[in-house]
Amino acid sequence: MLLNTSSDEWLSKINSLNSAGFPILGQSTTPNTGWAYSGSNGGQLQAPQRYDTGSPSSLSGSSTKDRKKRRYKSAALRAESSLTRSLNACVRCKLQRIRCTPDPNNMEGPCLPCTQTLLRISRLPCLRYRITDSSLYRTAFHYYPFFREHLMIGPRYGDFHIQRNWTSNHIIVLDLAQDSNAILRLAVRKFVPSPEDLTSDDTRGNKMYSIPWAIADAEQATKAVNSYLDGCIGHYLDAILDDSNPLVWDIFHCALRLSLVSHPVSCRPIGLLPQVIRLWVACRFLEGRWRCVGQHSLGAERLSHWYSTEPITQVPPFVNYQMAAIFTERILQPLRKTVLKQLQELMLANEKKNWFTIALSVFILLHNYELQCRFHSAFARRRGFPVRFVEMPVINAIHSGAKTILAYFHYACKGQRPFSLDHDWDTDEAKKMAHLDNEQVSFLKKYQHHIHNNGRKPDATSEEPQVRTVSYTHDYEEKYWFVGQMFDVNWVPRETKEDLLPA
Ligand SMILES: [Zn+2]
Ligand SMILES: [Zn+2]
Repeated sequence: MLLNTSSDEWLSKINSLNSAGFPILGQSTTPNTGWAYSGSNGGQLQAPQRYDTGSPSSLSGSSTKDRKKRRYKSAALRAESSLTRSLNACVRCKLQRIRCTPDPNNMEGPCLPCTQTLLRISRLPCLRYRITDSSLYRTAFHYYPFFREHLMIGPRYGDFHIQRNWTSNHIIVLDLAQDSNAILRLAVRKFVPSPEDLTSDDTRGNKMYSIPWAIADAEQATKAVNSYLDGCIGHYLDAILDDSNPLVWDIFHCALRLSLVSHPVSCRPIGLLPQVIRLWVACRFLEGRWRCVGQHSLGAERLSHWYSTEPITQVPPFVNYQMAAIFTERILQPLRKTVLKQLQELMLANEKKNWFTIALSVFILLHNYELQCRFHSAFARRRGFPVRFVEMPVINAIHSGAKTILAYFHYACKGQRPFSLDHDWDTDEAKKMAHLDNEQVSFLKKYQHHIHNNGRKPDATSEEPQVRTVSYTHDYEEKYWFVGQMFDVNWVPRETKEDLLPA
């Protein structure tokens, strides 16, 4: 069971919301900043650079092991195939299941199928992106020396491999909570740190071993986190999402409903959505705000909380670090793999019945990137860094993943503009893109209006960023910067800054 009763509570709450339709506002113009050309290669957009944020699976590359050995007709064809492999087939050729033949006069430029003139989706550039390369959560935290030296991922994650000098067999259970009252219970045990350990700082200015207690058993802790995750999904959606904004709320609502109920064949497969929602929630675990709420705090109430907006009893620093290591290595790493593999399968299957699931999943994954950018920006601001993001490789990995997922999504729309007001879901053209049932069609019709109202009632006075244009700025932490790109009818990958941005 992936979702529990708290999700049902959440559902009944959102079901009771006013579902009145909103009148249409005038369309705003969408400026075009041009494509991210790398001039010399004839306008071909290179695959986003792969940023190593330390995730072992992001290093593994694509699996060629399953590829059947084929007999090639000629040496020339064999050479071409090998070149295509080294370049990656482009998204269009992958989706159309055709050979991605490089242009012999411009080997690294757009492939030949993409340069041919009679293309149905001619506005999208030739992109050699791979979904399974995308990073979905941060694994590295290199600014602070302790985190550089004590990896949260890989076989030596979380220092669990280190033989500890436990002081006794006494185990206590910490009750921890983050954004709700859902409680994560972790068994911890006291140990004697080695003298050289004692100087390390955590990210809040406390000594890492000021409270020398560690998670007693990583396996048990992983089980506890997984069952916490099973039980807290509704609470997290409730605590983090804004129920007055249908642009985000309605998508999660719809995805959750599809995950919970068995649905007619038309909207299958639905296996991906529960995993995507689960991943979205687990990514929030890495964004701080954990506190001790039970009878034990091991003296953590004395720790400084300079960077916290409210005085909370923090989690002891070393336990906090080990928790983050379990979240990344044991929870998110396998989830990422499953989600990307399933998303890739759905994309490559290129079937109309999958479009709705793809659209919901893509939205939630992009929203996840958006929250991560916001977290990293707030982190740097709270600590007074002169830059907007402390860990630029993490932000670059987010951009790279978002560009990849968006490229596949826009190809999956087959040149249609499903979210613009003039898109008529009842036409044959629309039906060529997606197989939808009546409920889904009416959901999307209503959603078109939400986009045009920027997610608000027309009379609402809001200074919020505009969903369709905010991504033409470099304010990556702004609301809608990522999800808004799904609704851009002329989408091309944004040019993003890869160097440190001023605060
Ligand atoms: Zn191609
Ligand atoms: Zn191409």
